[in-house]
Amino acid sequence: MIDYQPLYNILLDAKADAWANLLPGQIASAFNTNKHGTLSQWQSAIKNLPELPTTHRLLDADAVQTGQANDLSEADRMELEQLLRTLHPWRKGPYNLFGINIDTEWRSDWKWDRLKNHITPLNHRLVLDVGCGNGYHCWRMLGAGAKMVVGIDPLLLNVMQFQLIRKLHGEAPVYVLPLGIEELPYGLKLFDTVFSMGVLYHRRSPIDHLMELKDCLKPGGELVLETLVIDGGLGEVLLPEDRYAKMRNVWFLPTCETLISWLKRCGFKNIRLIDVTPTSIEEQRSTEWMQFHSLKDFLDPENSELTCEGLPAPKRAIIIANNA
Ligand code: SAH
Repeated sequence: MIDYQPLYNILLDAKADAWANLLPGQIASAFNTNKHGTLSQWQSAIKNLPELPTTHRLLDADAVQTGQANDLSEADRMELEQLLRTLHPWRKGPYNLFGINIDTEWRSDWKWDRLKNHITPLNHRLVLDVGCGNGYHCWRMLGAGAKMVVGIDPLLLNVMQFQLIRKLHGEAPVYVLPLGIEELPYGLKLFDTVFSMGVLYHRRSPIDHLMELKDCLKPGGELVLETLVIDGGLGEVLLPEDRYAKMRNVWFLPTCETLISWLKRCGFKNIRLIDVTPTSIEEQRSTEWMQFHSLKDFLDPENSELTCEGLPAPKRAIIIANNA
């Protein structure tokens, strides 16, 4: 369905032959339909979607846009909306596709707005977005001028949401691969900019995660790291005893100073804390397109400074640093 050849060509040009040789097998294995109940249904629904012609494409806006309402007949638009709804829950966005407004759980554009003026301009850069979800920020990175954007995310629903949007948008140098960061080969040293947003606290070994990110960067390349933090000083870190905001897979929440010390220890240079923002129930909430519980249901109903477990409510930091 997706032509990965332009990506393989970039890898070969950059002397990343090891990954270029590995990748077709990795993609085939992740898309093995025997391993996943609904994957083949999603794939055929996307394959059967006819080409929907449009000249309207906008990546440099809060909602990533392809197509306008009047490009389609009412019947075709309803059919597209039906297909989009089969890929519920939509967590990252917003998108506007042929006039259908996908109001996602997250206002992911707010995160982008916090960092976009602080990063090195993405023009001509090869970009990796680790844990990219359905690729919302990948489109924004392309809209900001990146030469090529590679997102990786192991959750196949995310990858299929991306593939549907890419089919509507048409051929573009942006890929979301069904991989976890641990599947990237050692010593890649390929990317000019690497983003890791909303991933570090899901990793049991945060230092190893930082080293893996460093290993993906060219010498001098830029890391953009976003993760949950707590208030406090150097050396302090929260390891939840059990769940955090109902999530089972949350491990280390450092203070900003602790996080900076981890980055230093891993050999990053020029480390800058550019933003700290508490996550609000306006930024993360249930919507028509994500009908499960969301942040409001994970906070203490009497005290919004605490999670329902009595831990500090989510607050996120963005740090930018360079590979040595
Ligand atoms: N970066 C996006 C999405 C964050 S949600 C944003 O900031 O809005 C975290 C994502 O990390 C999820 O989509 C999850 O599937 C993905 N993820 C989980 N484990 C991962 C791993 N080992 N490698 C890469 N991504 C992972």
